[in-house]
Amino acid sequence: MTDYREPHVTAELADYFTKREAARTARIRDFLNNLTARERALVQDIAVMGYVRGSMHPKNEEIPLNKAILADVVNACFAFPDLYPAVATIERCPGFPEGCPNLRLVPADPPKHQGGVRCGCADDPEDDE
Ligand SMILES: [Zn+2]
Repeated sequence: MTDYREPHVTAELADYFTKREAARTARIRDFLNNLTARERALVQDIAVMGYVRGSMHPKNEEIPLNKAILADVVNACFAFPDLYPAVATIERCPGFPEGCPNLRLVPADPPKHQGGVRCGCADDPEDDE
């Protein structure tokens, strides 16, 4: 592995950086471990799609406002319900599940989720094949 440490970083400072990185890693682990499975799935869906959409953003264009970013990310999750099931399974028609005329199978993706069905009533009909 490449050693990126600068020559002027003392052993004491390097030790401090190592300890801070371990503390940040533990804080992230504890935060994620304290979420419910549902919260964790939602955070993951939105974070992953946000990363994907952000990586597609043109470099010299202005960053949209938070509200527009959120709408874009949710819309993009709706377009790929099998990949972002935590978001897709929130949207339901009033008859869901028994009275839903458009139940869609969500394949299991352990350990993220166990699969099941979702409401497809709001899906874009052009997405059906
Ligand atoms: Zn429905």
